[in-house]
Amino acid sequence: MSEPLIQIKTSPPRGDWRDPGVEFRKGVISYSAAAKNLNYLGLPNPREWQPMDMDWKLPPDWKRILLDGMKERLSKFRSFRLFMDVCVRCGACADKCHFYIGSADPKNMPVARAELIRSVYRRYFTFTGRIFRSLAGGRELTEEVVKEWFYYFYQCTECRRCSVFCPLGIDTAEITMMGRELLNLIGCNTNWVLEPAANCFRTGNHLGIQPHGFKDSIDFAAGEAAEITGLDIEVPINRKGAEILFVMPSADYFATPHYYTLLGYLMLFREIGLDYTVSAYASEGGNFGLFSSHELMKRLNAKIYDEARRLKVKWILGGECGHMWRVLHQYMDTMNGPADFLEVPRSPITGTVFDHARSTKMVHICEFTADLIHHGKLKLDPSRNDHWIPTYHDSCNPARAMGLLEEPRYILNSVCRNFHEMPESTIREQTFCCGSGAGIGTDENLEMRLRGGFPRANAVQYVRQKHGVNLLTCICAIDKATLPTLLQYWVPGVEVAGVHELLGNALVMKGEIPRLADLRGEPFAHATEQSVLETEAAHA
Ligand code: SF4
Ligand code: SF4
Repeated sequence: MSEPLIQIKTSPPRGDWRDPGVEFRKGVISYSAAAKNLNYLGLPNPREWQPMDMDWKLPPDWKRILLDGMKERLSKFRSFRLFMDVCVRCGACADKCHFYIGSADPKNMPVARAELIRSVYRRYFTFTGRIFRSLAGGRELTEEVVKEWFYYFYQCTECRRCSVFCPLGIDTAEITMMGRELLNLIGCNTNWVLEPAANCFRTGNHLGIQPHGFKDSIDFAAGEAAEITGLDIEVPINRKGAEILFVMPSADYFATPHYYTLLGYLMLFREIGLDYTVSAYASEGGNFGLFSSHELMKRLNAKIYDEARRLKVKWILGGECGHMWRVLHQYMDTMNGPADFLEVPRSPITGTVFDHARSTKMVHICEFTADLIHHGKLKLDPSRNDHWIPTYHDSCNPARAMGLLEEPRYILNSVCRNFHEMPESTIREQTFCCGSGAGIGTDENLEMRLRGGFPRANAVQYVRQKHGVNLLTCICAIDKATLPTLLQYWVPGVEVAGVHELLGNALVMKGEIPRLADLRGEPFAHATEQSVLETEAAHA
């Protein structure tokens, strides 16, 4: 089955690289955003169209809008101007992008992706470009160029792997963000980015789950955690005056395998007696604004802080999410911070002060849990995870955007005994993306997702063959949603799980009933048929 996608054409295309021209076909692009979502978000040029259409129904003055938009952003974002000017075309980034590796399309090289917009910058915003035009590497802004922008800026997962290798620190993800932001000005956006963003404003979360649905899902999970452990487990919702607001990605309470991570959180909070609340209003940690525009990102991020203020909590704890943490660590402070109305986070169990969160007042669940384990506050039985042979995928944003490298590994090594790392060049700062981040985890572009995820899957295949790995753990909701499909295609037999799912398996809670199965209902490795029957009888 893997054969068709492993065949890639490596011969360079004919003609000048500046000639635009892309084939929009199912499998490699995402569908356009529905007009209702643009209307809901107050974005320009709502209309019915698809990228495969000849006529994109651009506004009559689209060129002026784009050039004005570029001019404004060149003066507003110093990084944008710098990245336009300083690339020396050394090529160090060229083979670092998973989309280039998986597709061999030269314009998926980060340097070439950036050049799509840099060539327009040169033509209209530099002295030599205005005079010498194409001789100075400039390119006219045409509708074909706009289509090329759309094609390639939605074939970048904003993972920032290329930036790790750039000697000048150029962050191509930032250039992609700028390209998408410009496309937004003329109404060229994808539904898989804007529908979740619109839902988030409408109901509080990307999935569009209404408050009563949120409560049902949370209550259901609490009931299941109670059934597994035999303990009373309740989850406070919208409780004013709680010490901590816990925010997670909505997939945690709505999708699998995310749901098992949620069970792990709930059991952990019950065990340590945490004074917390979740919120039906801030029922989403993810922020699809990051994949659309700075303005939208700011508006979505503000919801979490507004809710923290309304509920009068002291600080915020965040779940296993990817881009939520990039927004928090790289943008929140200048957009909506500092959050001075909250307190510097301090673990109520260990007394640890999370000084690094002094401005955002928000701590990652892995930091919190690793601190609990480090201080001996949790009783853990790692043998309960013996049926898993896990490896760990560093989700791009927690790894590269916030440096969360050790804490998940510390937890994993505390809760299981068979952990194996993938090759060094594919983990930590150099981690390979899942191929579906930044809002391109759609079904309609599945071919490109599988191509982009190939380097990650290849590293999983390596540890599967070497160590028998059967579980890929990660701490990002998009990873958990898209890696199962990727692995099913390239490495069948490897499941996907959150770190707190394995913690939930290993956590020995005070007063719990005998447990012989993990959170998925899979028997522990040491469970015998007789003991399972006895435990089932006890549960009944
Ligand atoms: S590594 Fe940096 S300087 Fe070199 S080509 Fe890539 S973006 Fe340009
Ligand atoms: S940010 Fe990631 S997806 Fe985008 S060009 Fe760089 S390596 Fe490729």
